[in-house]
Amino acid sequence: MSTSTTWATAWPEDVLARYLTVGGAHVDLLRHKFRTRYTPQGRPFVSDQWREVDGFIWQCRGCDTRGGVGVFDDQYLPNERKQANEDANSHAAACRSMARPVH
Ligand SMILES: [Zn+2]
Repeated sequence: MSTSTTWATAWPEDVLARYLTVGGAHVDLLRHKFRTRYTPQGRPFVSDQWREVDGFIWQCRGCDTRGGVGVFDDQYLPNERKQANEDANSHAAACRSMARPVH
């Protein structure tokens, strides 16, 4: 096993941003393709057509929490990147989970 730290590890391709929890685990902001009925204007505008969008989701690698918008943890729409960043950062600031050992 190498002694290099996680800092030197290359990020997976779908990771857009990475936050460090208090305990040292990562919260990754990820590209996330999904189908939605929200219009290109975004919330709260819906149509009766489903469409595929390139949105976002975040996941804590320490405690496995996946985060989204609102009480239903909806995925973030393409125009909600800022919100996704802020939420991932908030989770990282509050989460005390430690990084899992890497094998
Ligand atoms: Zn966490």
